[in-house]
Formats: sequence, structure tokens, C-alpha cells
Amino acid sequence: MGLIQELLQNNRQWAADIKKETPDFFTKLSKQQNPLFFWIGCCDSRVPANQIIGLLPGEVFVHRNIANIVNSADMNCISALQFAVDLLQVRHVILCGHYGCGGVQAAVHGEGHGMIDYWIWDIKAILTRHELLAAQTTPERLDDLMCELNVIEQTYELCRTKVIREAWGRGQAVSVHGWIYGIQDGLLQEVIPEVSRLADVGQVYDVALTAVTQKYVGG
Ligand SMILES: [Zn+2]
Repeated sequence: MGLIQELLQNNRQWAADIKKETPDFFTKLSKQQNPLFFWIGCCDSRVPANQIIGLLPGEVFVHRNIANIVNSADMNCISALQFAVDLLQVRHVILCGHYGCGGVQAAVHGEGHGMIDYWIWDIKAILTRHELLAAQTTPERLDDLMCELNVIEQTYELCRTKVIREAWGRGQAVSVHGWIYGIQDGLLQEVIPEVSRLADVGQVYDVALTAVTQKYVGG
């Protein structure tokens, strides 16, 4: 069987298995989606949103791009965010980075990758912003530090988007989270504490930055 035929066969088996367990699963889902979570993650094939948080189809709305970047000029990410927050009324927005992120590594080590260089420009700016901190850690830990700083900065950007600020402004109950995933152990860790109002954004940013500094400097 060819590789692609195998995928189609896998799909038929998967759908049959779900139907066996829950006969009306697809019929119900086809009528509407009602996810409580919106996930912004990296494209990396090792970080599949649904599987690592144990959720079924219909339970998490997903946007992925290289190095989980949130930029208010990115129509794709911001449209997905607006759809999730304004229309689906998700309760939690999760920004999830991961250790060993190729996008972060490319930004840190300045390798040329054509178009991707433009995309990861925001991460190069993060390195510049935190160059004193970066200079105080060991070269072996720099990539991990940058993956965590990227989560902190992208989560901060997420909180400052018009979509999130307006949702909080009208009293909508939506929380923002910044997590990092370990490819080596399959575990998620919180990098930035949960935040659910604009007034707390600066404080949680400071808390996260202090924690990351303590973790990577002199350790
Ligand atoms: Zn990545």
C-alpha cells in the first residue's frame, strides 16, 4: 500500500473506531462546533495540539505558524483569534511554544532561510530586547531560554491585540495562557501565569520574566 493510501485507510479506521464508541459523534459535530479552547502553536510536526492536551475533534480551535508568533499585522492569526474569541466565545486562549523550536533557533543563530527570515524577524527583535539576559546564560541553554522568552513575548503581544483588549473591555470571560512543550518528555509547563484582565498583563509579564531569569542565569 502506498503512503497516501495508508493515510486514507487510517482515516477510515479512525472514523469507524469513533463511531463504534459514540455512534452520533460526527452527526452532532457536523451541526456546530463549541470549543472552549483556542490554541496558538508552532507548525512543528512533533507538537500536535489535540493529542498533547487529550482533546477530541470539536474541543479546540487551532492556529499554528512557524514559532507560534502573534503579530497584529498577521491577518491569518488575528482572524483566527477574532473568530475564536468573538464568535466561538472560547474561554481560554493558549499560546504554546516548544523547546527545540527550529524557528527560534534560526532567529538566534542567524541562519539564512529565505522567506522564513522575514517571518522570524519578531524573534530576532526579542533576542535584541533581552540581549543582556541572553549573554548571562550558557551557550547550551541559550536556545531553551529563547524558546521561553518567545512564549512570554508572544503571549504579551496576544494580550495586547485589539481582539483580546476589546473582549476584556466588554467583560467577556476569556483567559490567556503561555505554555511550553517539551519534545523530549511530552510535558507542558506554564511559562506565563494565567491572565484574564488588561490591568494584570504587565504584572504577569514581570513575574514570568523574573522566573525565567532565575532559571537561566547562574543556574
Ligand atoms: Zn517550532
